[in-house]
Parts: sequence; C-alpha cells; structure tokens
Amino acid sequence: MAASPVPPTRDFDVVVIGGGPAGASTAIRLARHGRSVLVLERDVFPRFHIGESQVPWTDEVFQELGIDGLVAQGGFVEKWGASFTSSDGSVEKYADFASAVETPRPQTYQVTRAEFDQLVLQHAERSGATVLQDTPCLDVTFAPDHVAVRHGGPGGERTVRAAAVVDASGRVGVLARRLTERRYDALLKNVALHAWYEDVPRRTGRRAGDIRMITRTDRGWFWLIPVSDEITSVGVVLPKDVHAARTGASLDEALERCVRETPAATALLASARRVSEVRFDADYSYESRDYAGDRWLVAGDAAAFLDPIFSTGVLLAMQAGIDAGDALHAALAAGDVSRARFAGFEKLVERRYRYFRRFATGFYDPAFRDIFFQSDTPLGIREAVLSVLAGNWRPSLTTRLRLMAFFAVIAVHRRVPIAPRLGDLAATAAAPSLASPATSPAD
Ligand SMILES: Cc1cc2nc3c(=O)[nH]c(=O)nc-3n(C[C@H](O)[C@H](O)[C@H](O)COP(=O)(O)OP(=O)(O)OC[C@H]3O[C@@H](n4cnc5c(N)ncnc54)[C@H](O)[C@@H]3O)c2cc1C
Repeated sequence: MAASPVPPTRDFDVVVIGGGPAGASTAIRLARHGRSVLVLERDVFPRFHIGESQVPWTDEVFQELGIDGLVAQGGFVEKWGASFTSSDGSVEKYADFASAVETPRPQTYQVTRAEFDQLVLQHAERSGATVLQDTPCLDVTFAPDHVAVRHGGPGGERTVRAAAVVDASGRVGVLARRLTERRYDALLKNVALHAWYEDVPRRTGRRAGDIRMITRTDRGWFWLIPVSDEITSVGVVLPKDVHAARTGASLDEALERCVRETPAATALLASARRVSEVRFDADYSYESRDYAGDRWLVAGDAAAFLDPIFSTGVLLAMQAGIDAGDALHAALAAGDVSRARFAGFEKLVERRYRYFRRFATGFYDPAFRDIFFQSDTPLGIREAVLSVLAGNWRPSLTTRLRLMAFFAVIAVHRRVPIAPRLGDLAATAAAPSLASPATSPAD
C-alpha cells in the first residue's frame, strides 16, 4: 500500500544525510523544486576530501545545478586531458578531451575538495535548503507516515520528521549499510595511499593542469593531480593483496616504497616535498543491492563506489543527487513515497554505474589495455572511447556502436592477438597510439 507522504507533524519534506557532492546536489534540486529540505553534515566545511580530478561532462551537472559560473570563478586548476606513462617513463600516451565526440566543453577542473564541496553546499543553502554542519545523523526510524531522524550537533540531540530521507553520507553509508547489502567488486579490489606534495615539476601551457597517470607493473597506478599552483595531489592505487602482503610498514613508508619502485614516479618526485600526512583508503569498489526503499534513497558513494581510475566519482555522485531530487519531488507530488515510485531512479543510477564500471574494470584487464593504448583505430572508435573518459554517460547510437566495436576488438584480441601485448606500457614504445601523441599540438 502506498505510504502517505504528508505526515501531520512534519518538519521537512526530505532530510539528506551528508553534505558532500551527492547530498548537496540532492538538496539543491529539491529546493529548486520548492521542497523543504534539511541537510545534516557531520563535519564542518571546509574539510579535506579525496576526489580532486573532474571530467568534462561534470560541466553539464554544474549547469543544471546553477553552479557553473561559481565553479569557473573558483580559481580551480584547468584540466584538458590525461596522460598515461609507463612505470619506467619511456612511453607516454595522451588522452586529449578536445578529441572526444559529443563533449561540448573539453576543459574541466582539478579541485581542492575542501573549497569545492563548500561552494556546492553553500549554494544548497542559498537555494533554500537548511544546512546544519557539525551535525551527525545518529539514527533513523521509519513510521507508517514519516521518517524520524535523530541527529547530534552543537545544540545537543534533536529529532526531526520528514516524508523521506536520502543517505548521501558517502562511503560511511549510514542507512545503506543498515537497509541494503553492500556488494564488493571482485574485479576492483584495490586500496589507495595518497598525500599532497609541493615542487612537483609540471608541463607548461595548456597541459600544465592535466592529470598524469603512471602505470605500475603490478596493475597498480599512480595519479598526479595539480590542485593549485603549488600543490600536487599524489596517490597510488594498489591491488589489495599487494598492499596486504606488505605488513609492518607505516603509511609514509608504504607510499615511499611505491614511489621508489616506480621509476617514472621517482623521477617526478625527486625534488618534491610532502606537505600533508599520508592518507589511506581501503575496501573499494562496491555497489548496493538496492538504491531505494519505502521513504528512503541512497545517492553517491553511499550507494556505490567505483574505482577512481577515470575520475568519475563526483560526476556520478552529483548526477545521482539530481536524479534523487527529481524522483523524490515526483513521488511527493504523487502522494506516494513507496519504493515502487523510485524504480526509475534505481535503474538509471545502476545503469550509469555499470556503464562506467565496464571501462574501469577494463583498465585492469591486459587485453583492454593493449587495445586502449595501441592502435589508431578506424571508424572514430578512439574518439568514442575518449568521450566516455570525458564522462559521456548518454552516448548517441553512433557512439554506442563504436564502443561496441571497441569491445568486440578486445574480445577478438583476447583469443587471437591482433596488437602487441603490452603488460606495462613500456612495450608500446614503437606502436601507434589510441590516444593522441605525447606532445599535444596545443602545447
Ligand atoms: C582514492 C580515491 C581517489 C578518488 N579520486 C577521485 C577523482 O579524482 N575524481 C572524482 O571525481 N572522484 C574521485 N574519488 C571519488 C570521490 O571521492 C567520491 O566519489 C565523492 O566524494 C562522492 O561524493 P558523495 O557526496 O557521495 O560522498 P562524500 O563526498 O564522501 O560526502 C559524504 C558526506 O557525508 C558526511 N557524513 C558521513 N557520515 C555522516 C553522518 N552520520 N551524518 C551526517 N553526515 C555524514 C561526510 O562528512 C561527508 O561530507 C576518489 C575516491 C577515492 C577513495
């Protein structure tokens, strides 16, 4: 039976747990629909968060939320593409977003999440949402006609009532862990170590702010993301079992060892100085069994987390927030906030995640890497793949057909090698490249 959406004593239409990109986007969307919304944020912004490199299609999300101008004026570093370097530094491939089809604006940003998340959350408040920081959600109870959300905060514990609740608490998954099952991805069992550095050499010109990826021979990889004029975020992603076998080392030692083992990283960090603590992220990737239930939805990392290889996290989180806001607004208008109302939302978010997952898992598959890095592929396949890397989650039929061709070539290559086996990228030195040449014409 449909649950009544309008409890007699309701403080808000919706309570959102978490004020990160997913929660703030949900709140902006709901507020712009005229809904009353309360955001509970455990921390006080600005605060550090990992997830600094954006993709061009996030610009569409910024526009939909009305923050494109704010982001453009935010002083963030411009990003135009991504380079992939072999562990010994002998080979580099460049993915230039200007070559990506269906991508209106190839330039995006590297952001310090402290400033970026604050900007988005402040916009939620300006849009009409009530935002409480330093206010953790402590418990949620479901009644037939409302949800009651108990939270802490400077003023002590309180309980608020709403028609529905959104869990956007990130990987904490306050509600998601309780109400649904978190399924870890057997193909993406990785961990990450990361820190901020100064004095990491950069390119000049248009590519100065691009992300650099350095592959490792154990299928791990480094990222180097310029997040300000001085600071570069440096991280290494390692297979979980590789990290687990290295017992006894501190985080500092573990990261330093990875740098020493990867000559291209050693060279780039030779004169660099670490200016933050080393941080560690474990246990990814995963998907929720369910994305919604009666009176609840999960959005962003609370629902699903995808390996950061193609920097899709913030895009997925904010787009899910927009979709959650739309789904809730429609459900409230229809007077029915039962799960059946959220079927479209669940399908959409799950499909988008799986679409990018195919590419993220591909990166760890040698056959995918062979084709991804090798050929100057015909029929616009290269431009179609770059489009996905740019964040295009709504490819046209033509692009979809090109992507199908890309995966068909990989399938053939798995049986009958049609391109040199790369292992590490170093083997590609003499081969033509899927990506543009190392030196971009725009340098
Ligand atoms: C190693 C690594 C590298 C990454 N690199 C990138 C990248 O380059 N680009 C990219 O786009 N993404 C990247 N990501 C992913 C990105 O960090 C996330 O996808 C993104 O932050 C998800 O946003 P969210 O709003 O869902 O969650 P979050 O950003 O985690 O926000 C959740 C919020 O909920 C709050 N919260 C938690 N518990 C409670 C509670 N009980 N009550 C109230 N509030 C609570 C938290 O304080 C937090 O502010 C990376 C992730 C990792 C682990």
